[in-house]
Amino acid sequence: MTDHDKHNLLGVKCDSELADGTERPVDSNCPVTKYREDFVPSRLIDEAKTGWFPKLIRHCIGCELCSPTTNASFPECADTCISAVGKQEEFSPMAFGGALDAIVSIQIKQESRQNRLEWIDESLHVADENEKGDVGLFVGDSPYLDILLGDEIGFKPTEEFRAAIDLLNSVGIHPVVLPDEVDAGGDRFHAGDMEAFIILGNRNRDMFKSRGVKTIVTTCDDCYYTLRFRYPRYIDDWDFKVMRLVDFLVEHGGKLTFLSAKETVAIQSPDLYTDHDGLDSVRKLLKSIPGLTVKEIEGGHPSTFGGWGQFDSVTKRLETDFLKAADRTGAVTVLIPSTRMLVRLLEGRRPGSWEETSIEIKGLYGFLSGKHTVHEEFAGA
Ligand code: SF4
Repeated sequence: MTDHDKHNLLGVKCDSELADGTERPVDSNCPVTKYREDFVPSRLIDEAKTGWFPKLIRHCIGCELCSPTTNASFPECADTCISAVGKQEEFSPMAFGGALDAIVSIQIKQESRQNRLEWIDESLHVADENEKGDVGLFVGDSPYLDILLGDEIGFKPTEEFRAAIDLLNSVGIHPVVLPDEVDAGGDRFHAGDMEAFIILGNRNRDMFKSRGVKTIVTTCDDCYYTLRFRYPRYIDDWDFKVMRLVDFLVEHGGKLTFLSAKETVAIQSPDLYTDHDGLDSVRKLLKSIPGLTVKEIEGGHPSTFGGWGQFDSVTKRLETDFLKAADRTGAVTVLIPSTRMLVRLLEGRRPGSWEETSIEIKGLYGFLSGKHTVHEEFAGA
């Protein structure tokens, strides 16, 4: 049985048919119900089994809190249902006014080469364009989000990837970063545009394979979910190991040491969507920073599901409450371990949104990168 098969509440088939299952979601654990009383996971499953896919399922944030066991995944079911709804409705992802979707359409047509690596300066070490390497870094849309959003949110998403390369360099890795990588396809998947999704996945597979990559690391929760769980279902020969960067860094433990930091940070408690294997790597890595106090956020939940296309009133209120809960910890900074989530929170905090919270929002990797020292074994890497 594959990892994917085990992680499947209802025996969801690739063709979006739902089989009977024995395990039911635990409705009372669902955070979305607080914002929409008519959102009841078990009811949505019953409706989906009739073949009529409920639109409401788009509000699912993929937190896994309703999944009764680690082998039973509601997000797996919701993911397929959302895609089926998208197909039925001929839904078009309109993230950032459709600008991102337009970029993806150009990538699909492959009419010109991209110029997407200017943010990698000489201080960072990546494999040369013709060089092979075991480890690839999946960057996603960040170079485009720098332009679409950077000025508005006062933060360029590629800064997290600069930090990622710096951290990888510090453990002796010069990652492969593809000059023509294409969007992972999460939004197209949820729109039910499987043709586009498969073109994008095949393209990424071919480019990583041609560079000899065996392990792909990413700093984005949705790219991680797509590359690890959606691609193996639809992309032939997708046999890469896909890891969150934080898990990769813990696996290479002992090679990364940190300077002392007398400050207090807040982190989200791990959930299965972002920490699928229950590795708790964020906490483990932060524990290795001398003097750092880590507070866990109680209550409140960021939206952890769906690509850029999933912006709605429920996620907005969830994210506001998440930041308020982070504020209540008394920490100065909340660390976000996903670039997508980080950008969404910063984007939502623009004037007029949730200015009532004051906690600083920072990316985990930028934070770690500013604090590590180079292990002597890798000095000069
Ligand atoms: S995964 Fe989370 S948001 Fe989705 S139905 Fe379950 S508890 Fe609710």
